[in-house]
Amino acid sequence: MPSLDRYRRQMDLPGWGKDAQERLGRSRVLVAGLGGLGSAVATNLVLAGVGKIRICDADTVDITNLNRQFLHSEGSIGSHKTRSAMETLAALNSGVEIEPVFSYIDSGNVAEIASGVSIIVDCLDNFEGRYVLNRWAVEAGIPLVHGAVWGLEGRVTFIAPPYTPCLACIFPAAPPGGSVPVLGAASCAIGSLQAMETVKYIVGTGRLLKGRMFIFDGSTMRFCELELERNPLCPVCGKVGHGGSRPLNGSCKAPPD
Ligand SMILES: [Zn+2]
Repeated sequence: MPSLDRYRRQMDLPGWGKDAQERLGRSRVLVAGLGGLGSAVATNLVLAGVGKIRICDADTVDITNLNRQFLHSEGSIGSHKTRSAMETLAALNSGVEIEPVFSYIDSGNVAEIASGVSIIVDCLDNFEGRYVLNRWAVEAGIPLVHGAVWGLEGRVTFIAPPYTPCLACIFPAAPPGGSVPVLGAASCAIGSLQAMETVKYIVGTGRLLKGRMFIFDGSTMRFCELELERNPLCPVCGKVGHGGSRPLNGSCKAPPD
């Protein structure tokens, strides 16, 4: 096994040590989407020493990506995102195995793309793909870390089938699609939180965002949390596990200014 010295500062975390680092080294994670969120997620997982990271995207690099997608550079415009991401990530940590998958994710290929991973990180920019990942995660019993950004805002939740609400419980219908405004600092912050949840899950430490939605508003620097509830009539997870509560009806409780 390569030297663990590069991980010394995280191995010094209380309760971590060599065992936690070796657990990270044995794990395989799917990062779905290599945009703003995926840049932060994949980079942090590689730095943390996750052993195998499967990266999946079907896009090529466009100049409008470069305000936030730091896996890619001006020299990679026009190239497959999986290629530029792989080059960047490999240069950061040669001890991590990167598995590039140049493809969209749909119901016909999700089982193959997500096979053999212990957790999925949803960094996609469209709900069609997000719902496909969610359904597969529920059916396979694989955790899914959901993240999204809009402008300076973002959200994160940890979906742990069959114990938590799934994405279809939380969002029964897809929000409007299309291009959205995003500041790189916002996608970087939310992606970093997704990576933190992923690492915590693999190591088996801390309290995950299970059944909770963390919401961040960078314009006011307010953070808040929604308690999520499963929809017993959910078409995806309604018949799996325990079920039995109401759909999402919470509201963000931020302190007054
Ligand atoms: Zn559900």
